[in-house]
Amino acid sequence: MKDRINIKESSNAQVYPCVPTRELVVFPNMVMHFDVGRPGSVKAMKNALQGEGYVFLVAQKDVNVERPEKSDVYKIGTVAKVKQIIKTPNGVYRCLVEGVQKARLAELIDNDACYEAEVRNIPNYGRENLSENEITALFRELKEVFADYARVLPRMPQELYTQVMGASDAKSLFEAIAFNIVLPFEDKQRLLEIPSSGEKTAFLLSVLSREIDVLTLEAQIHEQVHAAIEQNQRDFYIREQIKALQNELGENGFGDEAGDMDEIQNYVDRIHRLGAGDEVENKLLSEVKRLSRMASGSQEAVVIRGYLDTCISLPWNVYSKDQTNIKKAQQILDKDHYGMKRVKERILENLAVRSLTPDIKGQIICLVGPPGVGKTSIGKSIAKALNRKYVRVSLGGVKDESDIRGHRKTYVGAMPGRIINAVKQAGTKNPVILLDEIDKMSNDFRGDPSSAMLEVLDSEQNFSFRDHYIELPFDLSDVLFVTTANTLETIQPPLLDRMEVIELSSYTREEKFNIAKKHLIPKQLAKNGLKASQMRITNDGIYALIDGYTREAGVRKLERAIGSLCRKAAKEIVEDGAAKVVFKDGNIEEYLGHRKYLPDLVSKENQVGCVNGLAWTSVGGVIMPLEVLVLDGKGKIELTGSLGDVMKESAKIAVSLVRSIAEKYKIRSDFYEKNDLHIHAPEGAVPKDGPSAGVTMTTALVSALSGIPVRSDVAMTGEITLRGKVLPIGGLREKTMAAYKAGVKTVIVPKENMGDLDEVDDTVKLGLEFVFAEKIQDVLDAALVKKTDPEDIPYEIVKQPVRKASKAAVQK
Ligand code: ADP
Repeated sequence: MKDRINIKESSNAQVYPCVPTRELVVFPNMVMHFDVGRPGSVKAMKNALQGEGYVFLVAQKDVNVERPEKSDVYKIGTVAKVKQIIKTPNGVYRCLVEGVQKARLAELIDNDACYEAEVRNIPNYGRENLSENEITALFRELKEVFADYARVLPRMPQELYTQVMGASDAKSLFEAIAFNIVLPFEDKQRLLEIPSSGEKTAFLLSVLSREIDVLTLEAQIHEQVHAAIEQNQRDFYIREQIKALQNELGENGFGDEAGDMDEIQNYVDRIHRLGAGDEVENKLLSEVKRLSRMASGSQEAVVIRGYLDTCISLPWNVYSKDQTNIKKAQQILDKDHYGMKRVKERILENLAVRSLTPDIKGQIICLVGPPGVGKTSIGKSIAKALNRKYVRVSLGGVKDESDIRGHRKTYVGAMPGRIINAVKQAGTKNPVILLDEIDKMSNDFRGDPSSAMLEVLDSEQNFSFRDHYIELPFDLSDVLFVTTANTLETIQPPLLDRMEVIELSSYTREEKFNIAKKHLIPKQLAKNGLKASQMRITNDGIYALIDGYTREAGVRKLERAIGSLCRKAAKEIVEDGAAKVVFKDGNIEEYLGHRKYLPDLVSKENQVGCVNGLAWTSVGGVIMPLEVLVLDGKGKIELTGSLGDVMKESAKIAVSLVRSIAEKYKIRSDFYEKNDLHIHAPEGAVPKDGPSAGVTMTTALVSALSGIPVRSDVAMTGEITLRGKVLPIGGLREKTMAAYKAGVKTVIVPKENMGDLDEVDDTVKLGLEFVFAEKIQDVLDAALVKKTDPEDIPYEIVKQPVRKASKAAVQK
């Protein structure tokens, strides 16, 4: 150390000009610039330069003290060589010094604010207390920590980094770091005071680590603040742009900010009041949040508003109170509908079970039957009887899954599906929803609506039904679903599986009469503003309506005819001042015109080759005559009368069967080669199909080929096998009813249908003779006219015992 020569390490005190420094610590060996402003200090510096060139620099404890005393400065400072003093234009002096010797202050002499200090030298680096290894460890650690420090310090000069990393011992490492980095001056003072280089390194290590923490934290805070500011600025900028664009377009979406806030708050309040559970609330609130960020006139805001309004109007937690009184429910059901015993019973059972176990999720009822038998209207009564809201959803013609499940709200004009709409319309979570005409649902390329329907009707799934529009699970398990259908054939099996089918058959003439009298007439009177005292339809008048003006399974046309009579009566009362109008069999044609339907009577003559078949159509049972003509020819079979494929096959079976029994009826054995057969079903334009005409065809063929006439008062139905077995058929009740109405005396039906006799109306049972056929022989025996000459009789007529209904049962 070149300047050291002048200063001996000694215990003797020496006196130097002294400058108390503010926030500045100079180490021995350190060269540095600093500015001096206080006149006393400037003088001291000048004195030093003019004298031996040394000055004692010692830090002030409190930077604010203008004229420090001994107790205001630290005890240890540094004697430094003054290299240069330059006066700067702003009046302060810039000094260049080099630290030479650490020294302890003994006395501070104040010569009118120009200080002198009496100091004793102390070694710059004192004796080492740490082991060599400890020092090495500290040395390495300090380098590593410094590398970290360099990483977090925003602008670390490259030379400093190289110098530190290149330091070869603890002392030079310490000096490279301590002289060059910015630290609080208290730390630097402490570093100066600590005697040995090992201890200095240890302290520097802890200071640096602390600095790293602080710097990292600072960086984080800075980043956060910066990000927040950036986001704010970005939002602000975009909003301003939108505003400008909207002004340009003449929309004034942002016009009423107070109004917007009211709207948002209103949504939030309504959502909180819904009681819909956290998932729903959170989703809706997040939509409200989106809305709040949008221009209120924008297309998207309109979509969100529509969505929120729909969701909020759903009855997430609204129930109507069920009526649990079974007697009362029964009264309501009976009041609205005549008969329909099974449906009513099923509903009352349902009610009973529910009152025992309220949580039970009921099965879905499917009412199947021809049009106009009251399927839809009983649905409404069920709702009334249970005191539930009622909504009807028509499924006829629904082809698209989104009809059931809705469109995603991103589509233009998207809406919820029919199910959610129905619930919304009901306004309660437990309405009766009538799914009308579920058999008319079809599927096309847009997706299968019945699979969506499955989810609606399956009690395992419908507690969380998801509509595409609503996007939230809605619980449908409290809804009572009633479905209606005309036929079960077109309902998908899995769907059918989930429903309890109740069949409603067509009404008999008597039932129609009762329905008209008890329900339809009072209903139509009220609808047309008439009193019972002003209009009457006599009993024979009602029958005239049923027989002459309607031919249907249900009572819809009948109701229409009654409505029409009501209007005519109203006109007469108002126009002509009539007090009362009475409609009866005798005068009904004056009002409604000629009767449209004449009784379907069977011919009175026994004929060859003509048989009364029985068919079951959508309007109930009908007599379906079948004619066969045998012509010379080549064995061709001609079928006419819009016969379907199944009927054509029946014809072929019948021909083969007749060949097998030809001999018995003296039919020429080669008829199938030598004759043409023409089979025709009259009312040719009406399509007919089904297997149950098998026996009819066979009988007609046998009669035509053998020349034996068929009894005209016999009607028949039954499927036939190649070997002559008679198989059961459907619609026994309707078919026998038609036979009875047409004046038939004997009906031949398959023996296996015997069990269905309970369904047959009592009047019909009393009025008809039943023949239960097991084989074709039984049919032919009963149907073909018996020859009078016993010699000629090739067969015997065997009559089956007939079950007749008792008189008592009929009267009941
Ligand atoms: P569907 O739905 O089976 O086609 P609707 O329910 O539309 O038949 O019934 C047609 C009309 O007949 C309705 O006005 C209904 O009230 C009436 N109706 C049907 N059956 C009965 C009945 N058993 N008692 C009283 N009215 C009935």
